[in-house]
Amino acid sequence: AKGAAMVTAVAYRLTEQARQIQQTLAEFRLSKTQLLEVKKRMREEIERGLKKSSHQEATVKMLPTFVRSTPDGTENGDFLALDLGGTNFRVLLVKIRSGKRRTVEMHNKIYAIPIEVMQGTGEELFDHIVHCISDFLDYMGMKSARLPLGFTFSFPCHQTSLDAGILVTWTKGFKATDCEGEDVVELLREAIKRKEEFELDVVAIVNDTVGTMMTCAYEEPTCEVGLIAGTGSNACYMEEMKNVEIVEGNEGRMCVNMEWGAFGDNGCLDDIRTIYDQAVDENSLNEGKQRYEKMCSGMYLGEIVRQILIDLTKRGFLFRGQISETLKTRGIFETKFLSQIESDRLALLQVRAILQQLGLDSTCDDSIIVKEVCGTVSRRAAQICGAGMAAVVDKIRENRGLDHLDVTVGVDGTLYKLHPHFSRIFQQTVKELAPKCDVTFLLSEDGSGKGAALITAVGCRQRELDAQ
Ligand code: BGC
Ligand code: MG
Repeated sequence: AKGAAMVTAVAYRLTEQARQIQQTLAEFRLSKTQLLEVKKRMREEIERGLKKSSHQEATVKMLPTFVRSTPDGTENGDFLALDLGGTNFRVLLVKIRSGKRRTVEMHNKIYAIPIEVMQGTGEELFDHIVHCISDFLDYMGMKSARLPLGFTFSFPCHQTSLDAGILVTWTKGFKATDCEGEDVVELLREAIKRKEEFELDVVAIVNDTVGTMMTCAYEEPTCEVGLIAGTGSNACYMEEMKNVEIVEGNEGRMCVNMEWGAFGDNGCLDDIRTIYDQAVDENSLNEGKQRYEKMCSGMYLGEIVRQILIDLTKRGFLFRGQISETLKTRGIFETKFLSQIESDRLALLQVRAILQQLGLDSTCDDSIIVKEVCGTVSRRAAQICGAGMAAVVDKIRENRGLDHLDVTVGVDGTLYKLHPHFSRIFQQTVKELAPKCDVTFLLSEDGSGKGAALITAVGCRQRELDAQ
């Protein structure tokens, strides 16, 4: 009888444990009503960012980009492009040829940016960038060319023209001093001067979302939206000039860099943020900022998972109640690991092998729980990101007074491209929350490089017209 009672007690503890784990994860499982609410709030923040009277305080900044049209195929020339702010820093040479057979040829080289440089002084950061350009020009044998350059700089910038952008705030892993509030194009030009080795003509500063949209629009003219679901999260789209109140003029359209990562920074998402989201925020380089991004981008998903695992371990549900040094380490669960853990093709034994690689000793039960935690966190990410996109496409539809809109979204980013479920859940959510829109998603091929070159080409052409 005593034995039976013990078995019952153990069984009870196990079901109670399962119940508590499910209760924890339930906070991440959003209903359709909640997702519609996220969509509605995004729409409100969009309006706040666009309106002159509320732009100052708005959290979703809706920054003008001075890109007024998508490419038309007449773009031509050789361009240099820089891509800073994604997974890799790269320098590229892009050769665009117009005419009957349009071609784009690209050469690029990846350079490391050491963490001390990302978080050192602005001067060091820009000297490093120019050092890499110098290396690239040597490598390509083009040091004397004075090429036009497009600078893909994937951070919020207040633009007053195509070639001027004041950094609003660093995001993601960057925190170099003396850059916020400065025109980053000027910082780049000054660093090039300091080096005294070569000349360049900096024509455009480009957000990665805009580069992505332009790259896809080059192949598919219905593409009027750009999305990045990668290290960071953001979108851009073609807005009516009359709605872009902080730029003079009412004719035509302009691409707006939404900077939607900052959605929620005024507290409007507090009811769906969990204690784990708050912990991730407190542990970050930019506390209180980019709250939506911290719920749905690659740099932070693994951190949310880690916070949940720490809590479940403390409560004795995981890893035999032992919090290892590994689990205390920031950034261990990169997107590529989450993607592997969540892959349907992996047997549990392989999940355990991945955890082992990360330095986490797991039982079979542990690995089941870890996989479920990862799946729950990435599902919520895809859903709230989809809710944001639903707000955008519905806005475009309403702008044009349509009952039905067909539109293409150009997409890039490691999370979207590598994760086994993110893109599917994201697309499904957009479909459910914006039923009056037919949205096609087009993967961009190297949007940051090609897009920057296309925008630079348009910028050069415009300058020639202005000079006449
Ligand atoms: C930045 C955006 C960028 C996005 C994706 C965010 O952290 O603020 O400018 O587009 O990351 O790279
Ligand atoms: Mg990128």
